[in-house]
Amino acid sequence: MTTGTPARPDWGWAAPGRVNLMGEHTDYNDGWVLPFAIRHRTKVALCRRDDDRVRVHSTQQDVTVETTASTVPGDVSGWAGYVAGVVWALGTDGHRVPGVDLWVDSDVPMGAGLSSSAALACATALALDDLAGAGLDAAGIADVARRAENDYVRAPTGVMDQLASVHGRAGHALLIDTRDLTVEHHPARFVEDGYALLVIDTGATHTLADGGGYAERRSECERAAELLGVPALRDVTAADLDRLDDEVLHRRARHVVTEDARVLDCVRLLDAGDWAGVGAAFAASHASMRDDFEISCDELDVAVDASVAAGALGARMTGGGFGGSVIALVAAGDAEAVTSGCRRAFAEHGWYEPKMFAVEPGPGAARL
Ligand code: ADP
Ligand code: MG
Repeated sequence: MTTGTPARPDWGWAAPGRVNLMGEHTDYNDGWVLPFAIRHRTKVALCRRDDDRVRVHSTQQDVTVETTASTVPGDVSGWAGYVAGVVWALGTDGHRVPGVDLWVDSDVPMGAGLSSSAALACATALALDDLAGAGLDAAGIADVARRAENDYVRAPTGVMDQLASVHGRAGHALLIDTRDLTVEHHPARFVEDGYALLVIDTGATHTLADGGGYAERRSECERAAELLGVPALRDVTAADLDRLDDEVLHRRARHVVTEDARVLDCVRLLDAGDWAGVGAAFAASHASMRDDFEISCDELDVAVDASVAAGALGARMTGGGFGGSVIALVAAGDAEAVTSGCRRAFAEHGWYEPKMFAVEPGPGAARL
């Protein structure tokens, strides 16, 4: 008799990554974001065990990590922490996860700003919710996945990634109000209208990316809101900004205020199928992140400029900044020209070739 890992059962659950169309650094200011779930997703299979051990295997890491159902933050570091974190978060809510062997496979690129981490945590949460009989709804799944990421892995993120993964709908973007966590679905039919959304993963990671820059921007926003006497920058209008004498805080707040407005604008543009308008909003958003919020970098700026020079309707960095990915809206017929334009521009700078691929709005997390 063998005691090794049993044969893997069929994939039972899946959760997608996401891309954010508009709304960068607005989430912790109680503002709006406009992501969509992508077709790339993470799948989970599991098999009950007789003991209380939790064993996790990821095809991407090609390694098995073991913990127990009574894991606490600090036990498991690295990628398996996202799974152990879900076990822990369910446990703190009184849902005890029994011993289990769990397999993970994914086509969501890791670390490209498409939230492979939320895809992993949400797929795991959905699977373990069923196993533990917790009966959580979509919001509950998103919350467990967020706590796994924030409190167990200790990665500071808002709740956009997890909400986008659980509430995704094919052909739709999600307008999320991060103050009350309500979600509205809006059609995003750029593929049907002959356009593509390209992700250009620059591969750049600058030191400010590992939490330092994020934390600094976050506290600058909190200071600005405090000086203006409002709970969060979401409550500020363009006219209020004149009351901020500090030049840096003024620019930081201006990014958040104009970015919130661009999210709501983009919703109207999506509803109208005004792709040129969406492109212009991308351009304005990138300029705001580069000049006012100062979270861009050379690689991101070059990818944006090269995309637009090669025919994109608009392009902007997406994600936390200081590296990561750019999204570019292009007529499907120009996609080839845009990718080769970016490839050429990166080669001229002596940088590694960026990874480039198209994404489209797919369904949310589900039992398969
Ligand atoms: P992003 O969420 O933008 O892809 P993060 O740094 O937040 O970037 O998350 C990436 C991390 O998530 C990986 O380094 C790894 O620890 C974990 N991860 C995501 N998907 C998988 C997977 N399929 N298998 C193992 N680990 C994964
Ligand atoms: Mg992530």
